[in-house]
Amino acid sequence: MIVVMKNEATKEEIDNVKALIKELGYTPHPIEGILRTVIGVVGDDRGKPHHAEVLRQSNGVDKVVPIEQPYKLASREVQGSTSPVKVAGTIVGDNNISVIAGPCSVENEEQLMTIAKAVKAAGATMLRGGAFKPRTSPYSFQGLGKEGLKLLAAAREETGLPIVTELMDPDDIELLEEYADVLQIGARNSQNYALLKLVGKSKKAVLLKRGMSTTINEFLMCAEYILSEGNPNVILCERGIRTFETATRNTFDLNAIPVLKEKTHLPVFADPSHGTGYWQYVTSMSLAAIAAGADGLAIEVHNQPEIAVSDGGQSLKPEKFEDLMHRAAPVANAIGRTI
Ligand code: PEP
Ligand code: MN
Repeated sequence: MIVVMKNEATKEEIDNVKALIKELGYTPHPIEGILRTVIGVVGDDRGKPHHAEVLRQSNGVDKVVPIEQPYKLASREVQGSTSPVKVAGTIVGDNNISVIAGPCSVENEEQLMTIAKAVKAAGATMLRGGAFKPRTSPYSFQGLGKEGLKLLAAAREETGLPIVTELMDPDDIELLEEYADVLQIGARNSQNYALLKLVGKSKKAVLLKRGMSTTINEFLMCAEYILSEGNPNVILCERGIRTFETATRNTFDLNAIPVLKEKTHLPVFADPSHGTGYWQYVTSMSLAAIAAGADGLAIEVHNQPEIAVSDGGQSLKPEKFEDLMHRAAPVANAIGRTI
């Protein structure tokens, strides 16, 4: 079950409820959201309905909700609307659709600045760029590391766009926290539970990508690892899954968007760049993702995709990205949203 505290609950009331949960033999997992605190009550509560009643009567408690799903804190049973996520003073997951855009990898200052300024001008709300890259081959470009993070920080300074960048190695978390606004957990680490627990202890928002063979329920359990460590700022990202199809790099699972929106209150983003693997399909799948209810997009953009060190073939040139943003607006408006 989940204890939902009232918006105006005091710290003392929250502490008292946590103590009571322990007294009853459970483990409390508090998550301090923007509006209110919810406390996950983990333990076997079968046959003990009176425990829910005791908690419900405590000061500061709004309601006690039994949760049927194994993903207790991520479940939409906790909250019927999308949870807003704080990113560097801005909000993700409200009526306005967020757009993360930027290169796959940070390559050099000129490349990053050119792209950052172009995506900002076109209406992107966050800048992406990998400094630590998960590459299939150990002989491929592995990222600029700390140098890349410094370039991202300079681009943020120039454009005001918050930075999204991938964390691969637990040893790098402090470094990433120093530079990034959003920690990305990539598809390959989606079920790296040690890494998930680590970012669950962070104050930074997390962009959690779906693993390439992770089911939607497994994906939600990955999010649960982060939430259960106390970090409420989790954004999910559908980025395509492995299927028998070879005409595209991955199969972008458009189904996942409405399914996730039904199952969880976490914001759901779509990454049609990795989802399709070809720039030619990125715009149409972005529009489809918005129509399907995505709260945000993640799009790879490169000023010279033909010489990009990674994912050039799926990167939009800045003009194409601008065109995508123009075409996205009426689709968002048609479903009562803005972009
Ligand atoms: C990326 O965002 O560049 C990336 C490596 O994505 P994924 O983890 O989804 O493959
Ligand atoms: Mn990429």
